[in-house]
Amino acid sequence: MRATRVTSALAVPVLAASLTLPAAATEGAAETVPGGPWVCGEQPIRLSGLHSNGELSAALDRLAARHPDVVDVTEIGRSVEGRPLESVTVGHGERTLLVLTQVHGDEPLGTEAALALLDRATAPTPAGDALRDGVTLVVVPRINPDGWERYQDPDFAEGLDPRRNSNDIDLNRTFGPSEIDLALAPEAAAVQGLVEDVDPNLILDYHHQVSYANDDGLVTMSVLWGTHPDVAPEVADDGRRATAVIGDALAGSGHANVSLYPRSDTATTARNGLSLDGYPTVLVEQRGQQDAGQKSHGALVREALASMTGVAAALADGSFDDVDPAAADLLPERGDRVRETC
Ligand SMILES: [Zn+2]
Repeated sequence: MRATRVTSALAVPVLAASLTLPAAATEGAAETVPGGPWVCGEQPIRLSGLHSNGELSAALDRLAARHPDVVDVTEIGRSVEGRPLESVTVGHGERTLLVLTQVHGDEPLGTEAALALLDRATAPTPAGDALRDGVTLVVVPRINPDGWERYQDPDFAEGLDPRRNSNDIDLNRTFGPSEIDLALAPEAAAVQGLVEDVDPNLILDYHHQVSYANDDGLVTMSVLWGTHPDVAPEVADDGRRATAVIGDALAGSGHANVSLYPRSDTATTARNGLSLDGYPTVLVEQRGQQDAGQKSHGALVREALASMTGVAAALADGSFDDVDPAAADLLPERGDRVRETC
C-alpha cells in the first residue's frame, strides 16, 4: 500500500490557551497543546498499517475461509468505480447490530476496528460463542472504497474530495428524505438495500471528526443518536441507550474521552435519516489520523472496538433493554474546536 500522504489543511495554528487539562495530558508538551499527538504543518501522515482496498478484500476472504460455518461475506453492490462493497454477517442472535464504517473515504479507523470486531466475533472461544448466540452482527467495512483509494494517493489533492464518492456526492446526505438520485450513489443504495434486508435493531455509523476539547481534555470520541424531531420516540430511545452503553463501555479507559456530538436536525444523514426510517442509528465520530497522525491509531482503533463490543454485548445479554435512555444525557458536551499549535 502507499505509505504516506502530506497534510496542509491544518497548518494554521490557533491557540487554545484557556483549556483546562489534566497534568498527564500536557506532559512533555507546550501548555497550549491539548493532549496530542498532533500532525504538524507539512508532516506526512503514515497510512501503513491501515488496510488498502485489496488488503481489505483479502482479509474478508481469509475470514470466510477460516470460519466457513460462522461467517457469510456477501457482495451488496459496487462503488462508482466498480470496487466491491461487502457485508459480513456473523452470529444468529435474535437482535441484529449493523456496523457501518468509512462512508467518508478519508475516515478509516472504524474499518480497522470493524475487522478486529469480526476477529473477536468469529473466535472459537466462550466469548465468541456468547456473542454469536446473542446477536446477529452485520458489518459493512468501508462504504466508500473509491474515496479511500484517492486518499491513499499522494497526489489526492488534485482530484475529487476523498470524503465524497466518485460522482462527487457526500454519501452521508443520501438517507431519509434525501432527493439525491441513488443511481449516482450506488454505495448508499447498497447500504440502504442491506438495511431493508436485515432490518437491524441498531446501527452504529463510524466517522472521524477534527479536534475538540472539554474540561476532561482532548475529546477522542463524540456520539449521538437520531435527534431529528420526527424520529419516533422509541427509535430515539434505543439510540440513546446505545449512546449510554458506549459511554459506559469507555468510562474506565485511560485514553478515551467520550462526549455528545452536537445536535443537528439535518434529515439526510445516516444518523437522522435511518432513524426517521425506523432504524435506531448512532453516529460515532472519533478524532482521526488527519489531526493525530498515526501515533494514536492503536488507541483509537481500540476505542472504536470497545464501543462496538460494548453495544454488541449489551444486545446479546439483554442488558440493553434495562439501560435508562436518559443516561445518554449525562455525557459531557464536546467543547470547543482546538488546532495544533506546533
Ligand atoms: Zn464522516
